[in-house]
Amino acid sequence: MTSDDLAFDRDHIWHPYTSMSEPLPCYPVVSAQGVHLQLADGRQLVDGMSSWWAAIHGYNHPRLNQALQTQMAQMSHVMFGGITHPAAVALCRRLVAMTPAPLECVFLADSGSVAVEVAMKMALQYWQARGERRQRFLTLRRGYHGDTFSAMSVCDPDNSMHNLWQGYLPNHLFAPAPQRRFDDSWDEADIAEFAALMETHADSIAAVILEPIVQGAGGMRFYHPRYLQRVRELCDRHQVLLIADEIATGFGRTGELFACDHADIAPDILCLGKALTGGTMTLSATLTTRVVANTISNGAAGCFMHGPTFMGNPLACAVAEASLALLQEGEWKQQVAAIERQLRAALLPLASHPQVEDARVLGAIGVIESRQPVNMAAIQRFFVDQGVWIRPFGRLIYLMPPYVIDADRLARLTQAIEAALDRPDLFLPA
Ligand code: PMP
Repeated sequence: MTSDDLAFDRDHIWHPYTSMSEPLPCYPVVSAQGVHLQLADGRQLVDGMSSWWAAIHGYNHPRLNQALQTQMAQMSHVMFGGITHPAAVALCRRLVAMTPAPLECVFLADSGSVAVEVAMKMALQYWQARGERRQRFLTLRRGYHGDTFSAMSVCDPDNSMHNLWQGYLPNHLFAPAPQRRFDDSWDEADIAEFAALMETHADSIAAVILEPIVQGAGGMRFYHPRYLQRVRELCDRHQVLLIADEIATGFGRTGELFACDHADIAPDILCLGKALTGGTMTLSATLTTRVVANTISNGAAGCFMHGPTFMGNPLACAVAEASLALLQEGEWKQQVAAIERQLRAALLPLASHPQVEDARVLGAIGVIESRQPVNMAAIQRFFVDQGVWIRPFGRLIYLMPPYVIDADRLARLTQAIEAALDRPDLFLPA
């Protein structure tokens, strides 16, 4: 890439959550292989992000590439209205088999945010079909569910700046973020406000929507499995649907195949995305129960009112099927356990560092919460100079490497974080 390309990028192309008038620098990546990103200037970076939870098997995986090539030779795309194809059937067979038993009906869409839109719309249509006007969602503070409007309406009101959207977003119900951590002893007080909101508003709540166990973009927090069990019990008692957004946590990241497995519960609606295709392309799936699907289908509309142009895209389905096949060979379990052990050994002792507010690890996720917010441009440059790709935000410096990373490369990631903590110039005033 030439400096002219970079200038064009800076002047004309939006990047995620980035100013168009004063953009932070972007690093040109020209290829990626295994756990490495190749920069245009020849430097190679060890990837600590899995491209935001997605590239669990590493980049340029031969089996994923093969699945894409085989499918491409058949057809890259065909409409899903009135047509089906082997790639979608094979993928959905796997999804139905590997997710909790009650989830049987799969809706394929293009991104995580759309999976959340679909899930919320399913819940609304379910109640409409039952003749009840339930329009509200109950959710948790510090949650994150995507950037489209319905998804945004159930994101943490502070993080997603609901004040900016006053009058644009429906008013949903927010319980306090769970406080008991994953490894803490359980305290029933943690669920009290959630239970009270449920008690007061049950008749108007269509569904609870939450990220099970790991609150991701809203704070990288790991909460107690008992909380999730209590939510399931309360949903059952009040006949409210439960939507689990496992777009980030799904497919092994937390040490279980799905985060719901930590609590041994099944949601009524499950959202999947990100790692579904092994990080090769965008695809999401929203699964639900036969009861929800039939209720919607037997309602006044006679169907679920949604159908994106690229629904069931064969390329995406084929590569997702290959990714799930790889996952189901089972190596992820040892890989994630090994990453967890190493992250615990390397990161948890940093909790006593004067710059560190908290250190936590769950599965293949390691988090350092700093006392001061990072200086994004400076810390990004520092990490690239150290030969690693780590992209913090706010006071969160975190790792979620591809499952295939080896001990030496993982050590380079944790050592780079340790070194950054000793550099006051990489942080902004608190
Ligand atoms: N839900 C969760 C829990 C997520 O982490 C994300 C993405 N960060 C989304 C939904 C939205 O997915 P997408 O970015 O693919 O729209």
